[in-house]
Amino acid sequence: MASTSPQRLPEWARKGSPLDPSARALRVLFREKALNTVCEEARCPNLGECFSRGTATFMLLGDRCTRRCGYCAVATARPQPVDPEEPARVAEAAARLGLRYVVLTAVARDDLADGGASHFAAAVRAVRRRLPAARVEVLTPDFKGEPSALAAVLGAAPDVFNHNIETVPRLFARVRPQGGYRRSLELLAAAKGWPRSQVTKSGLMVGLGETDGEVGAVLADLRSAGVDIVTIGQYLRPTRAHLPVEQYVSPDGFRALEGRARALGFPTVHAGVFVRSSYNAEEVFAAAPSVSGRH
Ligand code: SF4
Repeated sequence: MASTSPQRLPEWARKGSPLDPSARALRVLFREKALNTVCEEARCPNLGECFSRGTATFMLLGDRCTRRCGYCAVATARPQPVDPEEPARVAEAAARLGLRYVVLTAVARDDLADGGASHFAAAVRAVRRRLPAARVEVLTPDFKGEPSALAAVLGAAPDVFNHNIETVPRLFARVRPQGGYRRSLELLAAAKGWPRSQVTKSGLMVGLGETDGEVGAVLADLRSAGVDIVTIGQYLRPTRAHLPVEQYVSPDGFRALEGRARALGFPTVHAGVFVRSSYNAEEVFAAAPSVSGRH
């Protein structure tokens, strides 16, 4: 794929995304409701754009993660107690924002017996009660591959089950040391096999030192696992304490990756420098006529 060396941040990987003054209202709302967003905690480069459009991705179960992934800016620390009122506050905030598409994610909670799955389910149900017409996407950790945790989340009937594979198997030990490539694939395949014909989604980052062949193999594995929607974006180092960028993939390189994914049969592909799993999630879902008609 077309790429450039990591010495300099190329023009195409710079995002001028100032925070619209109206976006301040979102921050006030999140503080008022004591809610976290992955947008802020993970230092997403799209924050200015998404907040200015009145969208965000809620991050459940606190702002401290039990895992230490090499790419992620969310803090690793002893997690907070589960707040049973959080799902209702998420639903209220989503209603105040007038969201038609709600994305719920969470820190990995390996300290909890169900990995936080019941809390995900409670949040999906709370949003459904408050906003019956809204679509809900869950972006979950791997729950250590525990089938009962997956069943708890899918039992709440999210419109989209999303779990990011993030990288190629060779780099898992560095990028997601507490994860497992096969475990993530199996989780996605199990979600797809859910009796309700679950729409599934996954994403990966490029720029961590993977080869073209490895990316192609991951895409083929995701398609074999029945994934409907795939997202591919450039890894950007959130701080100097995180993994370095090994290469910057050019816009042409992303177009080539999109073509490869489409050739593998993915109904929906979203690829680009600033594509993140939840970026334009509503539009990405709407652009998938073969899956978005289901509810
Ligand atoms: S792309 Fe996702 S995580 Fe990033 S700011 Fe937008 S909604 Fe938040």
